[in-house]
Amino acid sequence: MELPFAESWKIKMVEPIRRSTLEERRKWLAEAHYNVFQLKAEQVYIDLLTDSGTGAMSDRQWAEMMLGDESYAGATSFYKLEAMIKRLFGMNYVIPTHQGRAAENVLFSYLVKEGNVIPGNAHFDTTKGHIEARKAKAIDVTVDEARDTQLELPFKGNVNIEKLRQVLEDNKGNVPFMVLTVTNNTVGGQPVSMENIKATCALCHSYGVPVVMDSARFAENAYFIKTREKGFADRTIKEIVAEMYTDADAMTMSAKKDAIVNMGGFIGMKRKEWYEGAKLFCIPFEGYVTYGGMNGRDMNALARGLDENTEFDMLHTRIHQVAYLASKLDEYGIPYQRPAGGHAIFVDADKVLDRIPKEEFPAQTLTCELYLEAGIRACEIGYMLADRDPVTRENRFGGLDLVRLCIPRRVYTDNHMNVIAAAMKNVYDRRETITRGVAIEWEAPLMRHFTVQLKRLG
Ligand SMILES: *Cc1c(COP(=O)(O)O)cnc(C)c1O
Repeated sequence: MELPFAESWKIKMVEPIRRSTLEERRKWLAEAHYNVFQLKAEQVYIDLLTDSGTGAMSDRQWAEMMLGDESYAGATSFYKLEAMIKRLFGMNYVIPTHQGRAAENVLFSYLVKEGNVIPGNAHFDTTKGHIEARKAKAIDVTVDEARDTQLELPFKGNVNIEKLRQVLEDNKGNVPFMVLTVTNNTVGGQPVSMENIKATCALCHSYGVPVVMDSARFAENAYFIKTREKGFADRTIKEIVAEMYTDADAMTMSAKKDAIVNMGGFIGMKRKEWYEGAKLFCIPFEGYVTYGGMNGRDMNALARGLDENTEFDMLHTRIHQVAYLASKLDEYGIPYQRPAGGHAIFVDADKVLDRIPKEEFPAQTLTCELYLEAGIRACEIGYMLADRDPVTRENRFGGLDLVRLCIPRRVYTDNHMNVIAAAMKNVYDRRETITRGVAIEWEAPLMRHFTVQLKRLG
């Protein structure tokens, strides 16, 4: 008999978690204004809010913490991190930052000017925020197929090359760079193929436009290239990563994702002049250039995490778990963005709560219902997150309305996946009774989803 699959690690330390009652959850959710970001973590049983900074570090990473060099300038920890980034991505200039958005803030402060246009395959919310805050425009050039959640395609995160060409053609001289996000988080953790990465870089370069790779989940993207794209099955993850970055000009990284650290990020660059320019913003915003926003020990753990999580077994364990949850949802007939993404399942709330009008935020409502059902905290990636058009101030109802079940790395077991799937099924089974959604009582002018206050209708 063929041996079944099992995790490529064993557990050395555990953290107790606690269940709650429906009565408790009703009270807590009302106190949180129906915004799960406002819940206390201890009010949550299984936390699927994000895979960002929530992974479990390995014993090797903890060992590296003890070797951290906390020197203000020129710490060994910086050089260890820099060497790893050079080795994996071929980026010769490295600035550590405290997380991914800080990398964006530093680099974009140098690169983005008012009125610029920055195309990308569905910019992440902070990326878009940093562009729009500088009065520049982020234009989405993701393939149209990404919007059809039921279409099963291997690389739904891809750039639509024709759309990109149009943006570059219409905005000649006004595009400081293009953002290529791997995997494409916003459309459901969907990967970008190697072929598409190369075509995107070639097209941008033919217009003299550099490519910045938003790299939070570069390793998961490489896993999908290995397992789905012709010609890569026999290549190692590290070889694939090196090839993904061959033509890129720079990268911003949220190390809280695929580097499996609790806090950290960096900018990697190939152009010396960008490094010199970004440096000027690093010092006032983040700190001196050899630590940016990080401790020596954290840079050590980050370097180690990059090395570990570019090994096939580690990635296979993770993506297998996400696929397992997807198979349970299939069993119960619950619609989600197909195929399952690398770090999360994105449930199609419009299809589940189809009686709720979009003005009442179906995905936000489903997030509330899942919490009430079992104390599971998911995250709305839909109309609330899409925010308002910066010019018209109208809600942006044009995209997908999804509930993201985000799986932290090396944290939960498949038994937890069973609980999540069962809770989702229970909500799904009573979907016809959920006819009203939520309404906004207060919202911030930018990135409202973190702090929005809602009331429950009906
Ligand atoms: C998380 C993320 C960021 C921002 O990184 P933080 O570490 O959360 O600041 C940027 N882009 C993508 C694709 C991300 O997933």
